[in-house]
Amino acid sequence: MMPGIEDLYQEIILTHYKAPKHRGTLADPTVSVTQNNPMCGDEIRVDVRLEDGRIADLAHSGQGCSISQSAASMMSEQMVGRTPGEALESIEAFRRVMHGDPAPDDVELGDAEALSGVARFPARVKCALLAWMALKDALQSVDDPKEATGGRSD
Ligand code: ZN
Repeated sequence: MMPGIEDLYQEIILTHYKAPKHRGTLADPTVSVTQNNPMCGDEIRVDVRLEDGRIADLAHSGQGCSISQSAASMMSEQMVGRTPGEALESIEAFRRVMHGDPAPDDVELGDAEALSGVARFPARVKCALLAWMALKDALQSVDDPKEATGGRSD
């Protein structure tokens, strides 16, 4: 028997949880945002360093459940090297997947696709989105404060 897609996804989530990518803090972040998910007790801080119009480095710290922590690792792995515009596009795509919509064909979510099954568990969707929304806040706060205030919300 081939392992099911659910098992494969579970494996990817556990791998990120046990050995998270970009875990820690940055010494010289351009912006730093902390988000909490009181329903589950998750807390994630995201540090971003922008250089030459790109995300030069990114780190996440904090604590929480395996979904929130692995989602932070997947997010970090995806976003380093991207422009803020590209990153916001991916965040929006991931948000849609977490609400049960299919991922747009032209957006690469990498390992984060393993979290798509979480969409079936509404109580855990916020866990998966926490780090991604922290990055969104961070990028919008440095972008143009006037633009950011009119931003979309969930
Ligand atoms: Zn959680």
